[in-house]
Amino acid sequence: MLKDNIFQKIIDKQIPAKIAYEDEWCVAFHDINAQAPVHVLIVPRKAIATHADLTDVDRDLVGHMHLIAVKLAKDLHLDDGYRVVVNCLDRGGQTVPHLHMHLLGGRDFHWPPG
Ligand code: 5GP
Repeated sequence: MLKDNIFQKIIDKQIPAKIAYEDEWCVAFHDINAQAPVHVLIVPRKAIATHADLTDVDRDLVGHMHLIAVKLAKDLHLDDGYRVVVNCLDRGGQTVPHLHMHLLGGRDFHWPPG
């Protein structure tokens, strides 16, 4: 079922998370297994399974998620740069089937990402 995943439970406050920001569109919280000194997940309240499921109706939501990433990067002092990542489905490394954007910062990142 689309809503039966760990991020939906965090959105619904059924399980705890270290919340960094929330509003009517999305919830942002610190990753439980941080891959960088700053690792925040920006998660829409709307149940969208993956990046490939986005459609025209989600245009404002996607823009909003990016602007929240910019705000959090400022709030969390990532002034020298950061990385924003969306993993999509199996080959993209997605493990939680609810769309989310990773905001990573506080260290150097390399390319290609592997
Ligand atoms: P994905 O691999 O789907 O792009 O990213 C899922 C992320 O969710 C991973 O970085 C993982 O550490 C994080 N995660 C999984 N379960 C939990 C949880 O219960 N709480 C928090 N805060 N993060 C989680």
